[in-house]
Amino acid sequence: MHELSIASSIIETVRGEIASRPGRRATAVGVRIGALAAIDADALRFGFDAIVKDSDLEPLRIDIEQIDRRQRCLDCSTEFETDRYTLTCPACGSLRGACIAGEELDITFIEVEEA
Ligand SMILES: [Zn+2]
Repeated sequence: MHELSIASSIIETVRGEIASRPGRRATAVGVRIGALAAIDADALRFGFDAIVKDSDLEPLRIDIEQIDRRQRCLDCSTEFETDRYTLTCPACGSLRGACIAGEELDITFIEVEEA
């Protein structure tokens, strides 16, 4: 299950972040995953919670934002959201497009407070 290894690398990042701030603890971490990143949000949340539970990081929570695929039409420059199967430009019908979003796997924020 690769969501579990993603969850643990997110947690490592959080640990690294709070290690440089003594007396503080992380309460939440925001993650943005694109539709093309092939990550199951529920599995990621489940794996994350399983690692945090009963650890010194409890009650750290994860906030997952899912991003649709976005395409830009190479013929008319229209940008549109789509799923991975429909790539036809809604403005001109062209099939020539470039993927401009949807492959993200980013940590967007780490919320820290006084311990
Ligand atoms: Zn177009």
